[in-house]
Parts: sequence; structure tokens; C-alpha cells
Amino acid sequence: MNCNELREHYELYVIGVAEEPERSEIRAHLNRGCQVCTLGIQLARDVVALRGGTAARAGVAQRRFGWAPFLAAALAMAIFAAVYFSGRERDLANELARVREQNRQQNIELTRVNQAFAILTGADTTVTTFGEGQPKLKGKVFVSPSQGVLLIAGNLQPAPSGKAYEMWIVKDGKAKAAGMFQSAPDGSAMHIQRGTVANTDAVAVTLENEAGADQPTSTPLFAAPIRALVQ
Ligand SMILES: [Zn+2]
Repeated sequence: MNCNELREHYELYVIGVAEEPERSEIRAHLNRGCQVCTLGIQLARDVVALRGGTAARAGVAQRRFGWAPFLAAALAMAIFAAVYFSGRERDLANELARVREQNRQQNIELTRVNQAFAILTGADTTVTTFGEGQPKLKGKVFVSPSQGVLLIAGNLQPAPSGKAYEMWIVKDGKAKAAGMFQSAPDGSAMHIQRGTVANTDAVAVTLENEAGADQPTSTPLFAAPIRALVQ
């Protein structure tokens, strides 16, 4: 089976309930180092881990929020007994704020990974590899005409201060801005541009001023031509 046929089974594989023959096929792809499946399984693991993590965290948050009435009472009491409870209130309030913030971050991350996973596993998604055989920048562009573009790059050195990377969707010789992104300290980058992207000719990336540009102002670091999906 090819990677396209396996994509919708990645998540099932990760949670251990993929059926045959998909299970063996995915394992075979992973064993021979198939990049698409390796990446897909990594993303599926993230999705599963984050979903689990969020559920667990929601439980913790709920228990913490259970303190809210106590907090309110303590606050009311504190108006009269000003000093005694103040340290404890602050601790609880800080803890509450911390859990809320953690939950928010976790949800942002989950949304992002879910979006990436949706594009990766889209029925209309095509995969383009760029930078192959190059010692430097390399990666993959997943284009789903109905859902958007997912760019995953490696060896992309962090942009100099005041600069950022900008993705472009090229169609009929025209480049349309498709979002700014940065790479992580290890050179990895993931960028998602959601929305419909019919008949894309290529996806390119340039280095631009942090604020972004309407049109590319520098030579693209790469331009990956997008193949039409052949069924
Ligand atoms: Zn594969």
C-alpha cells in the first residue's frame, strides 16, 4: 500500500487499534524509513499525547476551579482579617492563573497539531519534498486544496533578529503571502496556512522583515513545485 492509503490509519496505529493489513503496512513503511509515514506517525503521537494531556489537565483545572468558592469566601474574610490569609490567597490565585495559562497554551498547541494532522491526512492532500540531496534546508510541503498548506522544514537556521520567514503560495506566476513563521533553535519549523488553495503551482519561502511583505523581496530559499493530485 502507498502512504496515501495509510494516512488515515496513523492515529489508529498510534493508539494500537489499527487493523490488518494497514498495521503491517505502516510498520513496513516505518522500518524502511518512509519519511511521509514517519512524520505522520510523529504527528499522530503528538495529537494523541496532547489530547490525553488536555483531558488530564482539564481534570486538574476543574479540581483547582473547585477552590473558587473557597477563594471567594477567603477573600471576603480577608476584608476583615486582612493579614492572616493574604499569603494563602495569593498562592491559590497564582496557581489558578498558572493552570489557566498552561491550559490555554496546551489548547493552542493541540489546535495547531490537529490542523497539521488534518492537512497531512486529507483525502486531497499532495506531498512535495524539497531540498532532497542537499546538505542544508530540506522538508516537505503538504497541500490540501480544501484545507490549506502545511510546511515542515529542517535545517532552517533561525532568522536573524528583526527578520522572519514568509511562506508564499504561487499560482499563475503570482505569489500570495501565506503567513510568517520562525524556526526553532534546532532548525525545525512547522507552518500552517489554512484555507482553500486550488491549483497551486508552487510553495516558496523567503526571508523577510518581521512585519512581513506583500510580495517577496528576496530570492526564495526554496520553491517547491506542487504536483496535481493524480488519482
Ligand atoms: Zn509511507
